[in-house]
Amino acid sequence: MSMRSDRQRFWSDDLVGLTPYVPGEQPRIEGLIKLNTNENPFPPSSRVTEAIRAAADERLRLYPDPASQALRECLAGYHGVALDEVFVGNGSDEVLGFLFRALFQRGRPIVFPDITYSFYPVYCRLYGIESTIVPLDEALAVDVDAMCRIDPSSVGGVILPNPNAPTGRALGLEQVERLAAHFADCAVVIDEAYVDFGAESAVALVGRYPNLLVTQTLSKSRSLAGLRIGFAVGQSGLIEALTRVKDSFNSYPVDRLAEAGAIAAFEDRAHFERTRAAIIRMREELAAGLNARGFEVVPSAANFLLARHPDHAGADLAAGLRRHKVIVRHFDRPRIGDHLRITVGSEPENAALLTALDAILGAE
Ligand code: PMP
Repeated sequence: MSMRSDRQRFWSDDLVGLTPYVPGEQPRIEGLIKLNTNENPFPPSSRVTEAIRAAADERLRLYPDPASQALRECLAGYHGVALDEVFVGNGSDEVLGFLFRALFQRGRPIVFPDITYSFYPVYCRLYGIESTIVPLDEALAVDVDAMCRIDPSSVGGVILPNPNAPTGRALGLEQVERLAAHFADCAVVIDEAYVDFGAESAVALVGRYPNLLVTQTLSKSRSLAGLRIGFAVGQSGLIEALTRVKDSFNSYPVDRLAEAGAIAAFEDRAHFERTRAAIIRMREELAAGLNARGFEVVPSAANFLLARHPDHAGADLAAGLRRHKVIVRHFDRPRIGDHLRITVGSEPENAALLTALDAILGAE
C-alpha cells in the first residue's frame, strides 16, 4: 500500500498515487480579461439558446435518450458518415476518458508527444496505462518521422491533438495518414478540439482506416464550453467499444438541454462560419502584435497562440499580466516554461493584452 495521510485513509490505492488534471482557473474577478482556457469570445448562436429554452419544460421529468440519436444523426449528416460511426459524450474530455478505457490497455504503452494536452498522462495514470513519449521537434511540431520509427508491434495506441495543444501547430492530413497506416494494429486517436480554426479533419480518412478515431468538441468553435458536448467519429467497431464503456459507467451522459442546444448549433452554419473566420483573422492580428513587441510566436491553426519573449521569463510575464487583470496560461514545464499560451479573445480583449504587455515590457 502506498504512503497516505490520515485524510486519505479511505481512498483507493490508485487514487493516492494520482495527480489530477488542473484546468485553467475560472476566477470571479470584476473586469478580468480571461485568455487562459481557449474559450470562444463570441456568444453561441441565438438558435442554441432558443432551442435550450424550448426544451426546458416538463419533459425534464424524463431521462434523455441514452443513445442521443437525434444529435448523432445530426453529426453523422454533418460529417457524411453513418449513424453507428458517431459517439457523443459530456464534453470531449469524457469521450477521451471513455476511449482510453475502451481502446488502450495496460501492458502496451501508448504513444503521444512530450508537449501535448496534459490530460493524456492523467488518463494513463488513472487506468494504469504506460506511455512512450516522443519529443516535438525543434520547431515544436509533432515529429511524425520519429513516431514512425517506433516498432508498431510494441505499441498499444497513439493519441495526439491536431492542431496540437498547447502549441497550436497542425499536421497535414498526409502526416496523420502516415501515422494511421504505420500503427495499423492499434487505435490511432486524433483529438481535433481546435480543428475548425485551421487544420484539415481526419474524419475524411476514417472510411479507409478501421483503427482511426477522431474526436471533436463544441466547446471551442461552437462557443459552447458550458454545454459540455464532445463527440467521436470512427468505424462502427470503435464506436461500439466507446458505447460499451459509456453503458458501464453512465447511460445518460448527454442531458436533454445539451442535446437540443448542440443540434441547434450545427443548424446555424452561418454563425459558425462567421465566428470562426473572425477568430482566424484576429489570431493573425494578435500574432502580428506580439511579433511587433519582440515575441516569437509559434504558427497556430487553433484559437490560441503559444509565444515567448527572448528577454523575459514566461512566469514573470504571466504574473505581470495578472497584475493588469489579464490572465493567460503559463505551463511550468520543460521546453515551454518560457512561453505563454494566449487565447484569442475579442478585439478589445486582445488590444488590452497588448497594452498590458507594452506597460510590462516598457517598465524594464
Ligand atoms: N482536447 C484538447 C486538446 C483540449 O485542449 C481540450 C480543452 N481543454 C479538450 C480536448 C476538452 O474539451 P471539452 O471537454 O470541453 O470538449
